Amino acid sequence: MSPRQTKEPVAVPPHIQTRLEAAGLRRTLATRAVLGLFLAQPHGGLTHAQALNALTARGLDINRVTLYRLLDRLAVCGVLQRQTDDEARTWRFSLAPPEVSSRASGDVPLFECEACHRQLRVADASAATQTLAQDVFSALARLGHQGTRLEVAVHGTCVDCLEPAA
Ligand SMILES: [Zn+2]
Repeated sequence: MSPRQTKEPVAVPPHIQTRLEAAGLRRTLATRAVLGLFLAQPHGGLTHAQALNALTARGLDINRVTLYRLLDRLAVCGVLQRQTDDEARTWRFSLAPPEVSSRASGDVPLFECEACHRQLRVADASAATQTLAQDVFSALARLGHQGTRLEVAVHGTCVDCLEPAA
């Protein structure tokens, strides 16, 4: 019997709960078990096969395709982050830092005009920013660091200041 086997309910942090609800993911038994698995080891990444083995060891009956879909959905909604495992040529999943998750709810890059110092929020780039944040945090995680916040600010000249004087 595995010493990790437990029936205790998992305390899901608020930012994860928010992401699950925003994505419309129901908290099924499988979802709770997968979250519990990753919450129990916040710094370690798991491959799909490792997650499947760990869940099976905990007594959860889940097939590999269902688990694949669930891991993907959790990654898409920002609860998990995915990074490639170069040696095994597979995905490695780990918990996404809270701030990356919250970016989807309106945290967007800032643009500041250096002439008039007007600040604009670049809402169209929020998805790209989230992808960038995931990449940067994944790169840090591979080195063992834990990134918590990424700020993106662009400096330049706004359209009004660019127009030639009348
Ligand atoms: Zn300007």
